[in-house]
Amino acid sequence: MRILLASIATLSFAACASVPANVAMAQSADMLIRNVTVIDPDGRTSTPVQDVYILDGRIVEIADSGSSGRVAEQVTEGEGRYLIPGLMDMHAHTSFRPVHQPSLTLMLANGVTGVREMGSDCVDPEGIAMCIGEMRDAHAQIVAGEIVGPRMLELSSSKIDSNRPDDANAVQAAYRPISAEDAEVTIAFMQERGADFLKTGDEFRPEAFATFARVATEQDMRFGGHVPPYLSVADVANMGMTSIEHARDLPLDCSTYGSEFRAGVLAALSGERESFPNRMEMAARSRDTFDETICAGQIEAMRANGTYYVPTHLTREMDYRAGDEDYRNDPRFDYIMAMQQRFWFQDMDRTAERLGPIRSDLEDFFNLGLRTTGLAHAAGVQIMAGTDANDTMVFPGFSLHDELRHLVAAGLSPMDALRAATSVPAAYLGRESDFGGVSEGRMADLILLRADPLADIGNTREIEAVFFGGRLHDRAALDAMLAEVRAWVADADASMAAQADD
Ligand SMILES: [Zn+2]
Repeated sequence: MRILLASIATLSFAACASVPANVAMAQSADMLIRNVTVIDPDGRTSTPVQDVYILDGRIVEIADSGSSGRVAEQVTEGEGRYLIPGLMDMHAHTSFRPVHQPSLTLMLANGVTGVREMGSDCVDPEGIAMCIGEMRDAHAQIVAGEIVGPRMLELSSSKIDSNRPDDANAVQAAYRPISAEDAEVTIAFMQERGADFLKTGDEFRPEAFATFARVATEQDMRFGGHVPPYLSVADVANMGMTSIEHARDLPLDCSTYGSEFRAGVLAALSGERESFPNRMEMAARSRDTFDETICAGQIEAMRANGTYYVPTHLTREMDYRAGDEDYRNDPRFDYIMAMQQRFWFQDMDRTAERLGPIRSDLEDFFNLGLRTTGLAHAAGVQIMAGTDANDTMVFPGFSLHDELRHLVAAGLSPMDALRAATSVPAAYLGRESDFGGVSEGRMADLILLRADPLADIGNTREIEAVFFGGRLHDRAALDAMLAEVRAWVADADASMAAQADD
């Protein structure tokens, strides 16, 4: 009876209220996350007992619990839960056709709501990699909710190198500049393709690279990736490289061996010396000749130029663990097609055979990578979390949580590790008003966690729900996504096996 009276009272209030229609509209929301602890990496705050209202995929209001008059259609209980922004993987590869959709699904299921795609274009349209137009179409479908996946926030060119075959076609030639004039062609070609970022590879020749870096900087085009082996981190930072990837160059350049190695490569390229420096020595000599003052100089060049650093520690982890039984027995192989597993195992077998004898040096080099990331962070270099997803043993989606753990091991606080996957990428992209924090006006790409990631960064895996593009994916929906990928993998493996039998 009391319930009936209450609803009559509500009805009569609604009927009598002289609230204008537009104000009544403004008081509504699609979703409410109630009683939650809001962790905002941008503001570096953690605020308990908040109500977060979402309308049309954006956060419209955050208020002390129960203090807003807003009415929401869908309510998620957040008591004992933690709300963080969706995570961004700032170095990933999802453009290989066979693994494209499974990778995107694994990312969203793991709370990765944004990705920087680091090889988004095709050198050969018939090849295994999707072309940049196809990637843009996929992004549009994701945003429209037609396919599952994260936002593709930056699409890079494929890797630009100079390793050109004699019979190179025009596209291959543009991707493999040798002379300074070639580099101008490369820039024009990439502009035409509409790449957001120009990715540099290891083989980039000195004359081509110097012109490429100058023209890209003049034209305000973002470029970077691998550091050419004859240049140091400070050199490329001073040449305007936007971001440096993989914890390989900084640990090298933090030693007295760094300048010796770089000079040796340049001398070999110009024919002044017969052979290139022995890469097998790099790990041990970088470790043995580490020099804090040299390191500080390299890092200062990055800081002063605003060079972003994406250390992808997972790639250096693979170098030393490739032969380890526990590393090779990863339960996440259920999500990886047999065909891809074969590539990964071939790579691990090769790596273990070639680098097995210097395993402990490589482990030290991985740890030197963590240490130099920590030093760079402490000196004010902007660090971003990236995984190299789909490279050997880098499981799309899952691995971002592994990299966050490595960043904390490197010396970042859990809040700073979260920033490396949220607010720092948002600033890098110039999208601070949309992403990177939990605040009014920002997009509601959010993760609801069952445990506090500031107490233990491993808790970013404890995902209760993902909010993305105005939709709620609860734990059951996320588990269904994971099951769907396992089923795809099983189907693909079965059809490959059947083809092999024919
Ligand atoms: Zn990569």
